[in-house]
Amino acid sequence: MADNAKYFAGLDIGGTTVKTVLVDEMGDVAGEMVEVRSHVKDGYEATFGQLESALDQLTGNIGLTRDAVKGIGMDVPAPSCDGVIWGRANLAENWVGTNVRDLLSERLGGVPVYMTNDGNAAALGEYAVRKKHHGGLLLVAPGTGLGGGLVLPGGRAYEGTNGLALEVGHISVPHREEDGELPECSCGLKGCLEAWVSLVALRRRVGIELAKPENASHPLNDGSPIEEKAFRLRDFAEQGDDLAVKIFRQQGQILGYGIADLVRVFDPGLVVIGGGLAETDFRDQYLDWVMEGFKERAWPMYLSSPINPDRATTRFEWARGGDWPAALGVAYSAREMFR
Ligand SMILES: [Zn+2]
Repeated sequence: MADNAKYFAGLDIGGTTVKTVLVDEMGDVAGEMVEVRSHVKDGYEATFGQLESALDQLTGNIGLTRDAVKGIGMDVPAPSCDGVIWGRANLAENWVGTNVRDLLSERLGGVPVYMTNDGNAAALGEYAVRKKHHGGLLLVAPGTGLGGGLVLPGGRAYEGTNGLALEVGHISVPHREEDGELPECSCGLKGCLEAWVSLVALRRRVGIELAKPENASHPLNDGSPIEEKAFRLRDFAEQGDDLAVKIFRQQGQILGYGIADLVRVFDPGLVVIGGGLAETDFRDQYLDWVMEGFKERAWPMYLSSPINPDRATTRFEWARGGDWPAALGVAYSAREMFR
C-alpha cells in the first residue's frame, strides 16, 4: 500500500462472478466497474487470484496500480463472522473455517479488509445509492428464499455479535393455512416468513390453489412444471387474473406482517423491498398489499408521527437494485472504516 493510497475497492463475491468497483475518498465511483469469474468452487486461493486481477483492472482503468487501494470491502455468499465463513453454501470446502479476510489482507500486503455476507452488502448498497438518506435502512428481499439486512443510521450494517443477525426469513408470522396448519420452512421450522414469502413458497401456494376444484379450468392447469407455473404467475397478476392476484396479495400482506414486527424492533425509518418483484408491472399494487398487512400489525406511530401526522415514521421504497449495489455498498463501508 503506497502512502498516496486513497481508493477503496468493493468486491461482491457471488457463486459465479465477482462484481467489483472502486470509489474515491469522496465516495464517488472511480473508473469502470469490473466483473470477473469467481471460481469459488475451486477454493479460496483461486478466487483470490481473480480478486487480484480485478484490483489490477480497476486501478489500471484510472492509470494507477493496486498500491492505490487503501481499504477493501468484500461480501461472501455465506454466513460469516470476523472474517471466518461458517457455512458452505456454494463455496468449496476450504473456505469454511478459514479466516479468508485476514489471508486476503496479508496477500495484498496488509491492506485492511472488511468482510460481510451478501444480505448485509445488498442493504449497504441500497444505502450507498441513496446519498441523501441518513436514517436507518431495512432491506427485505424475496427471492428463492427471503434475505435481508439492516443498516444503522450513519451507514454501518448491523451484523449481531456473531454475524448471525437479520435472518428475516425465519421470524414467525401469525398466519395459518386454511386447515389450521403452519407451512414447513426450508430451515426445518414451521410458520417462518420465508415459508410464505419466497419463490419456494410461491410454488407451494400455486400447487395448492391449482388443485382446488374451483380452479380446475385455470389456464395454468396445463400440465406444465410447477416452476414454470410459478414463474408465469407474474404475467397473470399483471393482467389482473383473480387467482394470481389472490396469491400475490396474500404474499404481500404476510410480508407486511413480518415487516411490522421488524419495524417494531428496529425502527429503521426506511424499508426497502428488493428481489425480482421490483421489476414487475404490478409492483405498486404489490406494495399496497404489503402496506395492508403492515397496517394491520403495526401501531399507528410506526406509520406517522404522533405529533405531526404529515411526517411518515416508516417509508417504503422499492430497491433501486441493478447488479452493482452490493459491490458499491461494501466499497462505501471500507471507505467509512479505513479512510
Ligand atoms: Zn425458516
